[in-house]
Amino acid sequence: MYRTHTCNDLRLADAGKTVTLAGWVAIGRDLGGLTFVDLRDRYGITQLVFDMDDNAELCERARRLGREFVIQATGLVRERASKNPNRATGDVEIRVTAFEVLNAAKTPPFTIQDDTDGGDDLRMKYRYLDLRRNAVQQNILFRSALSLETRKFMAGQGFAEIETPFLIKSTPEGARDFVVPSRMNKGQFYALPQSPQTFKQILMVAGFDRYFQIVKCFRDEDLRADRQPEFTQIDCEMAFVHQEDILNTFEGLTKHLFRTTLGIELPDFPRMTYDEAMRRFGSDKPDLRFGMEFVELTAQAKGKGFPVFDSAETVLAICAPGCAGYTRKQLDELTEWVKRPQIGAKGLVYVRYDADGSVKSSVDKFYSPDDLKVWLQACGAQPGDLLFLLCGDDEKTRKQLSELRLEMGNRLGLRDPKVFKPLWVMDFPLLEWDEEESRFFAMHHPFTSPKQADIPKMESDDREVLAGIRADAYDLVLNGVEIGGGSIRIHDRDLQSRNFRLLGFTPEEAEAQFGFLLGAFEYGAPPHGGIAFGFDRLCSVMNGINNIRDFIAFPKNNQGRDMMIDAPDAIKQKQLEELGIALKGA
Ligand code: ASP
Repeated sequence: MYRTHTCNDLRLADAGKTVTLAGWVAIGRDLGGLTFVDLRDRYGITQLVFDMDDNAELCERARRLGREFVIQATGLVRERASKNPNRATGDVEIRVTAFEVLNAAKTPPFTIQDDTDGGDDLRMKYRYLDLRRNAVQQNILFRSALSLETRKFMAGQGFAEIETPFLIKSTPEGARDFVVPSRMNKGQFYALPQSPQTFKQILMVAGFDRYFQIVKCFRDEDLRADRQPEFTQIDCEMAFVHQEDILNTFEGLTKHLFRTTLGIELPDFPRMTYDEAMRRFGSDKPDLRFGMEFVELTAQAKGKGFPVFDSAETVLAICAPGCAGYTRKQLDELTEWVKRPQIGAKGLVYVRYDADGSVKSSVDKFYSPDDLKVWLQACGAQPGDLLFLLCGDDEKTRKQLSELRLEMGNRLGLRDPKVFKPLWVMDFPLLEWDEEESRFFAMHHPFTSPKQADIPKMESDDREVLAGIRADAYDLVLNGVEIGGGSIRIHDRDLQSRNFRLLGFTPEEAEAQFGFLLGAFEYGAPPHGGIAFGFDRLCSVMNGINNIRDFIAFPKNNQGRDMMIDAPDAIKQKQLEELGIALKGA
């Protein structure tokens, strides 16, 4: 037997027992007569003690142990003289009588501690050492618990877990595909799936009724903190359901995951239409942990001779509670903040409602205190509050003010990572106009069903009418992060063809790309719908962290590189030839 206990098992009640532990040397302290070693494994840390008076030879050997040596030690559990209340095993130590080095280790390039001294790339290169750090290990174990609980819940609801292929066909919609050359079909390529969307719909046509999968998806996009080229979804599809059934099932899953992994009972999730979310928060994924809702001041602000407002489509305000004391410097700095290219506002107007009831603004030249009081009242401002106003094109202004609202939420400490505010956003538009390509794209994906009442609008040529078509599409939002999205699908061949036409596909293109799906719809497709959760994101948001990399055992860096195995990499000429790929200039 390698060990009788793990490094987190022993307590005061075990004093007097002879035990054997195995693990890594976290740290050693040589105090002359006594040498202490913290022994670490996945479960915890236990202190070993070597006594010069007991066994000088043993103690000498212990002194030579380096960090991260793998050892096995046997000894007697005893009460510690100075206890460590921060550690589960902190009341005891092992007085070692024998130990063996199972494997020596080089000095690690960074310390294996919660606050490591290793930079990002170094930690990625030595990912196995980074994964040895407790904080990172706990994240990966959390992820494991979350996927096991997902399977439990889904199985309990009668879902079948079915795998779909990774080598599929490239499609023009959505993000860029990763492609894989085919050796047996030279000059042809598979694509890695951006999601199992069409396959899960086909599974419904096949009669599986309830499908789920915890599945890798691949998208060749520019990377950000919450994006990786390969990521994981909890992917689901259900037949013979209404939108309501899907929302209830996945609200149930989310509540189950919070209860079982964090011990948190979430109340029923509020719902909001896309239009309402845009109107109140300027975002389709509002963070509901704090208020600061948008107030429309267009009517009140126009017509007083301030040209900037007079020429704007929209004037919007938010009220920052308790911020009237902001200094000139703070206000200038926030003005610069909204003018950065990432936000793109032209300027920032403020109104200070001082504690003594006096009002001061950056547009005093154009507005009397009474004018400003009308704004303050519309915003429900109290003495001590500060209004921020942005103006311009309606859509852009909403986006900009949404960013400012989140920034103020951060600055005022209103985005507590331990508070969870889920929300269903519903009734998304079916189509989204793309100025650059001058055509409609599917806001969710091309298989999303328009709302029954809006189907006749699909015959229109009027862009406004088409943009107004609503879909049975929904997103789950948690603390301002989109956790997942889904929709009721089109299950009628003609309607699907009509939707492809709106998206600019000729009938031939639609047939070439999605003929298999259109064909399947001719053989008895049941009404169906589904959803997919971003699994990595769910892990990170539940832990109040915004980098999904921390929850992926082997992530890529921002250049899409795996620093540990050093991929991507060139391949041999022979491999290229087998694949029928000639590199330019080669
Ligand atoms: N396949 C969709 C996605 O990846 C989710 C869904 O509609 O079920 O966003």
